[in-house]
Amino acid sequence: MVKIGVLGLQGAVREHAAALEASGAEAVIVKKVEQLEGLDGLVMPGGESTAMRRLIDKYAFLQPLKDFAAEKPVFGTCAGLILMAKNIAGQDSAHLELIDMTVERNAFGRQVDSFEADLMIHHVGEDFTGVFIRAPYIMEVGPEVEILSKHNDRIVAAQQGHFLCAAFHPELTDDYRMHAYFVKMAKEKKKETVA
Ligand code: GLN
Repeated sequence: MVKIGVLGLQGAVREHAAALEASGAEAVIVKKVEQLEGLDGLVMPGGESTAMRRLIDKYAFLQPLKDFAAEKPVFGTCAGLILMAKNIAGQDSAHLELIDMTVERNAFGRQVDSFEADLMIHHVGEDFTGVFIRAPYIMEVGPEVEILSKHNDRIVAAQQGHFLCAAFHPELTDDYRMHAYFVKMAKEKKKETVA
């Protein structure tokens, strides 16, 4: 069984842990750097990316997260996606800079704070209910990034190698297909590493 961490500094942590367990993984809520040891993958949840970054700095997680990501799969949702982006529109600096993409925060406007949309997600399936909450969207991706889903012509899910991201909250529905896909990525990576 693969062991997947959920970064537990802020945000929708428990829901991700439950979705991972329902997808056949052991879930660990990660609050300390040492807990990254021995994990086969990590989920970075939604919440608020600037608040999360402050906590990442406070608990000295930045470099350990980058080192972890160099070897293991990472899945970021909503604020987690923002943390993974190489560029953030209107900001001079980004955070972990894992995925070659430019994101815009709170991209769907104040009028539509939250909404649900029916999505088609490559590798995952159709009729996936995307729950968007003050969501970012992906404006642009580099050549190594595979676009997995679009909503109204805006990119809302993508993958680059062992990095997966979604602008919405797959942990807030009981459809675990996207978590199952990430668990599969983690299993494949583990097999590769052991072989
Ligand atoms: N708007 C938030 C941010 O910029 C993300 C919202 C979310 O994770 N639901 O971090």
